[in-house]
Amino acid sequence: MKIAMVGVGAMGSRFALELHKSGNDLVLIDGWDENLAAIRQNGVQANLNGKHVADKMPIYSLEEAQKLPDYQPDLMIAFTKSYQLDDAFSKVQNLIGPHTYVLCLLNGMGHEEILKKYVPAQRLILGITMWTAGLAGPGNATLFGTGNVELQNYDPAGKEFTLEVEKVFEKAGLYPKYSENARYSIWRKACVNGTLNTLCSILDCNIGELGQTKEAEDLLKTIIAEFAAVASHEGIELDQAEVYQHVAETFNGDIADHYPSMYQDLIKNHRQTEVDFINGAVWRRGQEYGVATPYCALITQLIHAKEQLLNK
Ligand code: NAD
Repeated sequence: MKIAMVGVGAMGSRFALELHKSGNDLVLIDGWDENLAAIRQNGVQANLNGKHVADKMPIYSLEEAQKLPDYQPDLMIAFTKSYQLDDAFSKVQNLIGPHTYVLCLLNGMGHEEILKKYVPAQRLILGITMWTAGLAGPGNATLFGTGNVELQNYDPAGKEFTLEVEKVFEKAGLYPKYSENARYSIWRKACVNGTLNTLCSILDCNIGELGQTKEAEDLLKTIIAEFAAVASHEGIELDQAEVYQHVAETFNGDIADHYPSMYQDLIKNHRQTEVDFINGAVWRRGQEYGVATPYCALITQLIHAKEQLLNK
């Protein structure tokens, strides 16, 4: 399959390496100059479960990709950060031909609203992934553990091609599963990010330490209740008890000593966060639906205030 990876950070590198190794035709597109230079020189490098791997693939900046003659991939995979998605796709939209599909596995809500500006709903595929990845530096990913992918066409018309993507991902060892309700999974995963990621970042602690606080249970339940109240207005009935259980079991699990990705981005690397697509999306939609979401509002504002303090 002809695949363009839009955003070749931690996750884009992981998926590009696996999809290229299994025989797909990959083109990489990224907006970070140091990353472009490193990948051009050394290929995509990674520590893959303790083993060094490197693989050369064509890579272009967003501006260069705009000018690629006659290149129209079968599939574009979005792996930017949420807040980079609109700018990236506005620049590469001319690569979206009449048969090009776009797959989005970003964390959070609302990406379909952005992508529908550039690709018809019939050729949009949404989902989540439980694969994880980090960046040791430009062009150098840290890839440990295992994961899977859940994906579903946004519109019924896109099912046949989505099943083809599932086969391609299967061959690449990405453990895909066609989902009958990807929107539920997206909301459920957003509850994890909207509790663990944001609270650990605000409290400057890891997941286990958050779980040891007396307040953790009430904070989680209240935030999940706000997500559920808003999701319900979109026809999604989150099972709050199950979602709470799912989040709380991380407090004593394998990732208890882990600092979530928002913590790494904000506290460690002073980067912007995706909060506007997580708690911020719940707050914004709550206002539209007349649903009060005071915890999500406060969390969104605290994270934005911290972004400003750290990016002075
Ligand atoms: P990432 O930050 O590694 O990469 C995203 C984009 O940001 C890339 O274009 C990259 O080149 C650029 N970038 C990275 N570091 C930069 C820097 N210092 N300066 C300028 N640009 C930089 O993001 P990711 O971890 O690959 O995540 C992509 C999406 O996938 C996000 O929506 C994320 O929530 C989601 N996701 C991530 C993981 C994970 O474990 N990393 C797991 C599941 C979902």
